[in-house]
Amino acid sequence: MKRVVVLGGGVSGHTAASYLNKLLGKKHQVTVVTPNKDWNWIPSNIWVGVGQMDKSEVLFDLAAVYKKVGIEYVKAKAVSIHPEGGASHSAPYVVAQGTGDHNLD
Ligand SMILES: Cc1cc2nc3c(=O)[nH]c(=O)nc-3n(C[C@H](O)[C@H](O)[C@H](O)COP(=O)(O)OP(=O)(O)OC[C@H]3O[C@@H](n4cnc5c(N)ncnc54)[C@H](O)[C@@H]3O)c2cc1C
Repeated sequence: MKRVVVLGGGVSGHTAASYLNKLLGKKHQVTVVTPNKDWNWIPSNIWVGVGQMDKSEVLFDLAAVYKKVGIEYVKAKAVSIHPEGGASHSAPYVVAQGTGDHNLD
């Protein structure tokens, strides 16, 4: 089993993770590392700003969605990317900081 790490759960990251998860099935793990608890449909933020929509209409909880479809979710921000590994890891890895430190092989 391989792990694909998607950095950023915005429009493109969330789309990439969802398609990858569908295409790879249970054979491989898709992991999303993003600092936000919620996904945000950014284009409609302007309507929240002018009082035409409620904040709850442009946000949804990422953890619940990812749990349902089997995507691993890490609420953290990536601080360094090591595509060729390093002294402590021979495989590629990402260092992320969030509620704790996560080393993602
Ligand atoms: C007010 C407004 C209106 C818009 N209207 C439209 C529209 O009508 N139509 C349209 O096509 N586009 C519109 N856009 C543009 C559209 O929102 C962006 O093009 C789109 O959000 C870009 O998607 P993205 O995934 O590249 O970036 P983002 O959606 O910004 O996602 C990036 C993600 O990466 C995360 N991230 C950042 N740093 C790290 C890190 N170190 N580690 C891990 N994760 C990290 C962020 O928290 C975020 O979740 C609008 C934008 C704005 C601001």
